[in-house]
Amino acid sequence: SLAVNCLDRHVEKSPNRVALIWERDEPGTAVHVTYRELLDLTCRLANTLKKYGIRKGDKVAIYMSVSPVSVAAMLACARIGAVHTVVFAGFSAESLAGRIMDAGCKAVITYNQGVRGGRVIELKATVDEAVKNCPSIEHVFVAQRTDNKVQMGDCDIPLEEEMAKAASVCTPESMDSEDMLFMLYTSGSTGKPKGIVHTQAGYLLYAAVTHKYVFDYQQGDVFGCVADIGWITGHSYVVYGPLCNGATSVLFESTPVYPDPGRYWEVVQRLKINQFYGAPTAIRLLLNYGDEWVKKYNRSSLKTLGSVGEPINNEAWQWFYNVVGEGRCTLVDTWWQTETGGICIAPRPSEEKAEIVPAMAMRPFFGIVPVLMDENGKVIEGNDVSGALCIAQPWPGMARTIYGDHQRFVDAYFKAYPGYYFTGDGAYRTKKGYYQITGRMDDVINISGHRLGTAEIEDAMADHPEVPETAVIGYPHKIKGEGAFAFIVLKEQTAHIDRVKEELKTIVASKIAKYAVPDHILVVRRLPKTRSGKIMRRLLRKVVTDQSSKMGDVTTLDDPSVVKEILDAYQKYKEKSSS
Ligand code: AMP
Repeated sequence: SLAVNCLDRHVEKSPNRVALIWERDEPGTAVHVTYRELLDLTCRLANTLKKYGIRKGDKVAIYMSVSPVSVAAMLACARIGAVHTVVFAGFSAESLAGRIMDAGCKAVITYNQGVRGGRVIELKATVDEAVKNCPSIEHVFVAQRTDNKVQMGDCDIPLEEEMAKAASVCTPESMDSEDMLFMLYTSGSTGKPKGIVHTQAGYLLYAAVTHKYVFDYQQGDVFGCVADIGWITGHSYVVYGPLCNGATSVLFESTPVYPDPGRYWEVVQRLKINQFYGAPTAIRLLLNYGDEWVKKYNRSSLKTLGSVGEPINNEAWQWFYNVVGEGRCTLVDTWWQTETGGICIAPRPSEEKAEIVPAMAMRPFFGIVPVLMDENGKVIEGNDVSGALCIAQPWPGMARTIYGDHQRFVDAYFKAYPGYYFTGDGAYRTKKGYYQITGRMDDVINISGHRLGTAEIEDAMADHPEVPETAVIGYPHKIKGEGAFAFIVLKEQTAHIDRVKEELKTIVASKIAKYAVPDHILVVRRLPKTRSGKIMRRLLRKVVTDQSSKMGDVTTLDDPSVVKEILDAYQKYKEKSSS
């Protein structure tokens, strides 16, 4: 079992080595958990799951903030051969329910409440609302993060109470290398998120090897990846990669600005973090607060800095490198995806002192063969060229399927360029042969490093009875990288535009998550459509990026006069919002 590789192996050799440092939301209250303690926690949790009927192959949803118990929940599933699906604790009840139903989960593991940035988050209440509509759920295991009591129903199990009674030894299930380890839902270009499936041996190998070589992780280092376990980065570089390598992994429960914008660097100083791996959106946010918040703290422990989840712009890269890293740390911009399981393109590993070009992922990892494709599906040779980024041969960490829909897996990743894995991203190969990611080629956007299909937002808004049509696009946002911009058509010219907009925002927050709520909603009389009725989002993108002079070919539009109409509406909207 994979849990053995992440725990038992290390417990045999060095039981008292620290596995996890839980940097709780409350500053200065970090909790250290040794490998022996984590094994104990994991076995007790595994035995509790077994007691309530969870068996090999069963699916378990985890809806928790990051903590030793949530890591133990993942490892406990792995230990007994159950399949976990972690759902980011910021997703709404409806999103959670959708994932639970698609996966056919038998149980949910959650907290009574979460705590983030000093605020309490009602996790159990959200789970209650979700499971009302999920007949497959037999039990909800509730751990305690706060002292507050929450409503407990018939199928709710107090987790710590049960764990205290459970045996601390649990024989690991033996698993085939290709058995499922977990699924993780991510957005595609349709309204329905897909359950990306990762398996045992290949995934773990890839997570561990990339963790070691991309970050130059050395035995004894404290590895600080500040991602949430609800995303693939948390799976691979908070949990599986570091633990497989016997590392000390930091679990960061808070936010970059709580209690103040010095939090990350105060933590680096206090925990003596050696590798710091974070998201460009946080770096962009922090650089606005100025250098003092960084310089206040001693960062001499830092050796490697990493960036993940979205493109990092040059300004953010320079600040991260020069101010945070004092110009002496290696900074790796790491390109990868939920589907790839681990980092695929990054400046390291490479020969000693090899150059690192700012804001570029640069070099393929061992075994990764990137190729660029032209519009006719032909491989583009040579350098100084751009195309669709594909990977030419399989690698250990690649996703194996989309749960319950293998055809969608084949269609989404292997159909556009037969024989190649298509990433959905475009890339430029520089004169020197380095790779620079140029962004998504489909209708997927990336808000603060969180991937979202514009179709998901459109589907959610379609629920509003007064809004027959919507089109959502991504637009450049200074902090979030991208934000959502919605164009809507109203059924009737109503005087209550502001009310409708507020209702739409509420719908998106409750059907998806708060981060998915569009920053802008613009009412237009109609959307730009082709004669066959397809919305031309490309034109809308030009409008909001002020490139209306470069509209390109609009002859396929059903009625080209719609362009001027939308431009006028946008101009008025801009004037109104800046006044
Ligand atoms: P996710 O699966 O949610 O991690 O999203 C993966 C997508 O995020 C990729 O397809 C890219 O569009 C984007 N992405 C991730 N890392 C990078 C990076 N280092 N540079 C540019 N884009 C990135």
